[in-house]
Amino acid sequence: MSPPNDVPALLWVVAFQMGVYALMWLLSLALLRESRRAVAHWGAFMALLCAGLVLAALRSEPRHWLPYNGTNAVTVIGFALMRRGTEQFMGLPAQDREQLAVLLPALALFGWLGPGPEEAPIRIVAAYGLQAWILARTLWTVRPALASEFGRASMLGIVGPGSLLVLVLVGLALRQGVAWPEPTEMQVNRTANVALMLTYLGGSALFSFGFLTMVTQRLVARLREASMRDALTGLFNRRAMNDALQRAWLRHRRTGAPMAALVIDLDHFKHINDTLGHAAGDAVLVRVAGLLQRQLRGEDVVGRAGGEEFWLVLPDTPQVHAMALAERLRQQVADASLGITCSVGVALANPADSEASQVIARADAALYRAKAGGRNRVEGG
Ligand code: GH3
Ligand code: MG
Ligand code: MG
Repeated sequence: MSPPNDVPALLWVVAFQMGVYALMWLLSLALLRESRRAVAHWGAFMALLCAGLVLAALRSEPRHWLPYNGTNAVTVIGFALMRRGTEQFMGLPAQDREQLAVLLPALALFGWLGPGPEEAPIRIVAAYGLQAWILARTLWTVRPALASEFGRASMLGIVGPGSLLVLVLVGLALRQGVAWPEPTEMQVNRTANVALMLTYLGGSALFSFGFLTMVTQRLVARLREASMRDALTGLFNRRAMNDALQRAWLRHRRTGAPMAALVIDLDHFKHINDTLGHAAGDAVLVRVAGLLQRQLRGEDVVGRAGGEEFWLVLPDTPQVHAMALAERLRQQVADASLGITCSVGVALANPADSEASQVIARADAALYRAKAGGRNRVEGG
C-alpha cells in the first residue's frame, strides 16, 4: 500500500480544517470571556495557518512572491501568535522581545528573498526551523503551569503531540538541508509532505480540542468556586456550609471523633445599619469575617450563613475546645473596636442525631439563650 500522494488536495483539506477551528475560536470569543485574549490569539493562529495552506495550494508557475514567501511569512506569524496566546492563557509574561528577535529577521529574509526555486531551500529551512523553535519554546515555558493547573495527564496530552510536531518540523528542515540545492516545497507530491499534512491535521485537532477543554475546565472551576462563596465577605456561603457540615458529620459518624458547630450572630446589628448606614454595616461584616477566618485551624470551616450570622464547623473538636474557641472569638469581636459584640451558640454532634442539621439546630437554640441572657456571651448545649 502506498500513501496518498495528492498533496495539493491534502493542502485544501487541512486548510479547510484550520478554517473550521479558526471559526470555532471566533464563535467562542463571546462565550469564553475570561480567556478572551488567548482565544483571539488561537483563532488568529488557526486562521493564519489556513491562509498559509491556501496560498501553498495555489502555488503555480510562473512564481509569485505571495504563494511562496507569503506562505512562510503568515505561517511563522501564526506560530508566534499561538505562543503569545498560550502564555497569556497560562498567566505567564509575554515574551514579545524574544519573539520579535527571531520573527523580524525571518520576515525580512522572506521579504528579501525571491520566490524562485534557487532561493527556496533557505526559505524552507528558515520557515520549518522557526516553527519548530517557537513551538518548542512554547511547550517548554507553559509545561509547569499546565501541569499544576490541569494535571500531568492534560499537560502530557498537549506536550506529547506538540513535541512530535517539533520533531517533524526539525526533520523537514534537515531534509531540506540534505537535499540542497533541490527545493523540497510542501505542494510537491512527496511522502514527507503527506506526513507533514497529517501531522498538521492531528496536531491542530489536539491543540484546538485540548485548549477548548482547558478553557472549559477553568470556567467550570471558577463557577464552582463562585457558587460556594459569599460575594461580600469571600467566606463560604450557606450552601457550602451545609456541604461542609454534612461532610464533617458523616466523618464524625464514621470515626466517632467529636465534632462541634458554632453559630455566631452579631448583637443589635440593625442599629449599626440604622445609625451609620448600610455600607458601614457591610464593612463590619467584612471585618468580622476576616477576624473569624484568622482563628481557623486546618480543617475548620467558616461561612456566612446569611445576614449577620456566621457558622463554624469544627471537626475533631471536643466540647471544651469548642467552648474555648467560642469565648475567644466573642472576646476578639468585642475588642476589635467595631462598636459591636456578638453572641455565640455552641453544639456538639451526639449519637442521637439522625442528621447533620440537628447539630446546627441545637447551636441555634444555644444562640437564642445567649441573646435572651443579655447578648455578648457564649452558650453551649
Ligand atoms: P440581635 O442582637 O437580636 O441579633 O439584633 P440584630 O439587630 O442583630 O438582629 P436582626 O435580625 O433584627 O437584624 C439583623 C440585621 O442585619 C437586619 C438587616 O438589615 C441586617 N443585614 C442583613 N444582611 C445584611 C448585609 O448584607 N449588609 C448589611 N449592612 N446589613 C445586613
Ligand atoms: Mg443579630
Ligand atoms: Mg441574625
